[in-house]
Amino acid sequence: MSRVQLRKIPITRPNLGEAEVAAARQAILSGWITQGPEVAAFEEEFAAYVGASHACAVSSCTTALHLALHALGVGPGDEVITVSHSFIATTNAIRYCGARPIFVDIEPRTLNLDPALIEAAITPRTRALVLVHQIGLPCDMRVILEITGRHGLPVIEDAACAIGSELLVDNQWERIGRPHGTVACFSFHPRKVLTTGDGGMITTLDSQLDDKFRRLRQHGMSIPDTARHSSETVLFEEYPIVGFNYRMTDIQAAIGRVQLERLPGMLARRLALANEYTRGLGEIPGLEPPERPAGTRPNYQSYAVRVTANFPIGRDQLMQSLLEQGISTRRGIMNAHQEPAYAGQWHGALPHSEAARDGVILLPLYDTMTMDDQDYILETLRDLAAAIRI
Ligand SMILES: *Cc1c(COP(=O)(O)O)cnc(C)c1O
Repeated sequence: MSRVQLRKIPITRPNLGEAEVAAARQAILSGWITQGPEVAAFEEEFAAYVGASHACAVSSCTTALHLALHALGVGPGDEVITVSHSFIATTNAIRYCGARPIFVDIEPRTLNLDPALIEAAITPRTRALVLVHQIGLPCDMRVILEITGRHGLPVIEDAACAIGSELLVDNQWERIGRPHGTVACFSFHPRKVLTTGDGGMITTLDSQLDDKFRRLRQHGMSIPDTARHSSETVLFEEYPIVGFNYRMTDIQAAIGRVQLERLPGMLARRLALANEYTRGLGEIPGLEPPERPAGTRPNYQSYAVRVTANFPIGRDQLMQSLLEQGISTRRGIMNAHQEPAYAGQWHGALPHSEAARDGVILLPLYDTMTMDDQDYILETLRDLAAAIRI
């Protein structure tokens, strides 16, 4: 079969259209463009969607993680258990607090934190656990919470990638973000399922924590500008604590509200594409589709495939061959401990994390991807598996 025209298939593509443009336009023309009524409405709708009692919008998931750790009292000298196998922001947020990340390895099939390793990582200095629902696949919360509960440790869920993912809890499907731990942190970066350009959300069931997040994201201010703006008497704000500027803008929130409305459709399309990948890969020896453990409904923020020794070429060569056919891919999730920023700071063995970074390939997956493009990707993979020169 001849391919006359080289395609260009990106790794991802945000799905933003005229409805988002109209919402942003309206926010811009309203006269209130930073954190205001659109942010408040987005928070309410987001909380209702994930089933949380509180949702606090912030500027990114990185700042969400920092606020969560800070509000829980994590500081210099403390240890926080987490995975190295994650986007570097997970570890950086721990460092912002002056605390030390204690890395545990992942389960090779799910790419999520291995709960069997938590207990041995706990010391008298341990203050919290940050888990990551990697690529939107929920962690085994029942087992993890049983362990952290026994040690009285708060749990922060890095749910950057997990909007819309579900977990079976007592025979009921629940969305990630209720949260199941103490707080959950989401990202709205364009690489994720729902985007506002940049942005984040912190959900919790604890109203005191939510209160702290709201003050800390706005310079520690005692009376927010929205309250002063609508007051009939003169009000002076105070700054009882040192806060940050981690606000989301109303322009972003207006876009987020439209994205949230469209989310069920976007998730259904992702699931259909993921199922088609899984079916197609079943015919290709040497490529293992991502795990989907019982009791989980991942959102397929990305589609991670393990390249095994049965595949005729290695992972890096496969990425290059696909790129030459117009197909963008990415390597597996990075490991913080292998980056220069953390060089020499971690000496424990993390064999599964390292193998996943070097043996996993992320295939293109976005809800506007055509079936024709997906057929082309699967056909190219089949050709490479059969070592047919293209
Ligand atoms: C993307 C990502 C982040 C960072 O999110 P931002 O909104 O870009 O700050 C943090 N953790 C994980 C696991 C991510 O994938």
